[in-house]
Amino acid sequence: MTDLTKIPLAGVIGQPIAHSRSPALHGYWLRRYGIRGHYIPMDVSQSDLQQVLEILPRLGFVGLNVTIPHKETVLGLADVVTDRAALIGAANTLIFRKDGRIHADNTDGSGFMANLRQNAPQWSPASGPAAVFGAGGAARAVIAALIEVGVPEIRLANRTRPRAEALRSDFGAKVVIHDWVQSANMLEGAAIVVNTTSLGMTGKPDFRVPLDALAAGTLVTDLVYTPLKTRFLLEAEERGCHAVDGLGMLLHQAAPGFERWFGLRPEVDDATRAAVLSA
Ligand code: NAP
Repeated sequence: MTDLTKIPLAGVIGQPIAHSRSPALHGYWLRRYGIRGHYIPMDVSQSDLQQVLEILPRLGFVGLNVTIPHKETVLGLADVVTDRAALIGAANTLIFRKDGRIHADNTDGSGFMANLRQNAPQWSPASGPAAVFGAGGAARAVIAALIEVGVPEIRLANRTRPRAEALRSDFGAKVVIHDWVQSANMLEGAAIVVNTTSLGMTGKPDFRVPLDALAAGTLVTDLVYTPLKTRFLLEAEERGCHAVDGLGMLLHQAAPGFERWFGLRPEVDDATRAAVLSA
């Protein structure tokens, strides 16, 4: 329960932090629900991280979002780490509990799945294999979530193959590794295709995998949300696929933190999307 005698403070720590959309998102929800609270972006260096986590709870902070480069390090500084954060090897949400303990969680996987439930309700996890491109931190959250909901096989390709192999050893035999240079083969018979690489992001090279093997009707989603419609999603749509952009994941991964800090589960809807896009 939020202490009503205090104005709750939350925020996001990372470096760099100026690009983060989280302040616009949480600021919008605070205004929308008339909550007396603040959400603040904070540029925090690796060397200051431990001290920052000691001091912020004393200043009235109830928790934080964590972004690059601190997502892995905060696990070692938290007192309680959820199973899913431990499995993923990173946390994006911290809760400063009243007993002084720091609770670390990772909501990227549940955000990914909530985005699909909202925007691709026709997709059934058991309907066929997933093809996942990329093996970074976001891929770990996505793969954990896909396995949890019962996807029968995860085909995985990453430019740096040992990183994909590390995921297979962490997540088990459902993960089948494919060569990055032949990764277009993974699309044959896939029921869902996910780009978790940073390719396609504004300022980065495009994600260019030949999509010939992609069947019409396949669910295709990109974690990149700047631009909202990546070239990958546009090309998949031209082939009759159902495309879901990555903004919904960003909004959904933020909702559990907001609820824990400010005491109300926020709505993820068109107005929320519009507020973040116009910020
Ligand atoms: P990360 O840990 O740095 O991983 C980056 C991934 O992209 C790795 O698989 C990397 O392959 C691959 N990659 C980068 N440049 C490449 C290139 N030139 N060619 C081929 N592969 C390349 O980053 P992350 O945290 O997983 O994030 C990945 C993307 O997801 C980012 O764009 C991030 O913004 C987005 N994301 C979105 C959400 C959301 O809510 N929508 C949440 C989390 C992340 P190597 O291993 O070979 O380097």
